[in-house]
Amino acid sequence: MQTTTLQITKCESSKIDQVNFDKLPFGEIFTDHMFICDYKNGAWSNPRIQPYQPLQIAPSARVFHYGQAIFEGMKAYKDDEGGVWLFRPDQNYERINKSAERMAMPPLPKEYFFEGLHELLRLDQEWIKPGIGNTLYVRPFMIASQAGIIASAAEEFTFMIICAPAQSYFTGSVSVKIEEHYSRAANGGFGYAKAAGNYAGQFYPTQLAKQEGFQQVVWTDATEHKYIEEAGTMNIFVRLKDTLVTCPVSDRILDGVTRKSLLQMAEDMGIKTEVRPIAVSELVKGIASGEMTELFGAGTAAVVSPISGFSYEGKRYELPELSKDSYALRLKNQLMNIQYNRSEDPHGWRE
Ligand code: PMP
Repeated sequence: MQTTTLQITKCESSKIDQVNFDKLPFGEIFTDHMFICDYKNGAWSNPRIQPYQPLQIAPSARVFHYGQAIFEGMKAYKDDEGGVWLFRPDQNYERINKSAERMAMPPLPKEYFFEGLHELLRLDQEWIKPGIGNTLYVRPFMIASQAGIIASAAEEFTFMIICAPAQSYFTGSVSVKIEEHYSRAANGGFGYAKAAGNYAGQFYPTQLAKQEGFQQVVWTDATEHKYIEEAGTMNIFVRLKDTLVTCPVSDRILDGVTRKSLLQMAEDMGIKTEVRPIAVSELVKGIASGEMTELFGAGTAAVVSPISGFSYEGKRYELPELSKDSYALRLKNQLMNIQYNRSEDPHGWRE
């Protein structure tokens, strides 16, 4: 570690026996320990692991008023021999520092991120259950913890990692509303950052979509609402004839780890891929002609989330049933086989 070594305070007794792993609500139960460190006087210090517990923080801390907060989302997997694996954690590390720069927060040293993460997983490894679909969701995050309601970048921050056991939730296909009024992100904005405010701003339009009977919003470009950009909190893919298409990342779109992995895996499988803007009109035409056979979201939480239909300009469009040899299912299975150490890992993503 940069300035001090990692201090470890273990919990007196584990909570694990109180947890029903067959019935896990997502993101509500946390493991026994957490990692925490502080940024003060221009340096990170005091890295420690302690029992998972509430924080003491001033009500005036800037995070509460100006939303100076960023996070990451990744998963740990256990293989059938008990080995614990992460999937491309270097990508999450790089992305949190990109988010930090955009939100005027200090970069996190690599040792803090990885030593904290590995030690935490070592201590709480019993919380990771083997079997496809069982994971430990890992949430690294950084907040402006400095007291004082001054509307400018803080100079004191806290970085933490907490972990929640999770099961894959097979929700089936979702029906989505293609957003024609609200925007998630703007040119020159911070849509590409995993910043807390990006998510808070999505809740209201998503609530409205749910009231209208949809499960999710597909975000479109903020200028004309004519090009699709993301599916809720996932990147979006479409299959047009035999080609798998996704839109390019930009300052409005999160550079998803799942997205870039699926693109690479599709190429490895010999599937044609294209990265280019996708107009909503192409989807409408693709449904009519039968050339569009798949639409799905991709992200760490659900891996691949097939979309069964969408609404646009007051009309509903339905996609055909997903076949067993769909790109969505083939890519999902292959990705999970890599994550759970059940297949070759040609790109060295598992670690
Ligand atoms: N877009 C948004 C807005 C997200 O929050 C996420 C989840 N991190 C993704 C896409 C997918 O990214 P990843 O594959 O890295 O989870």
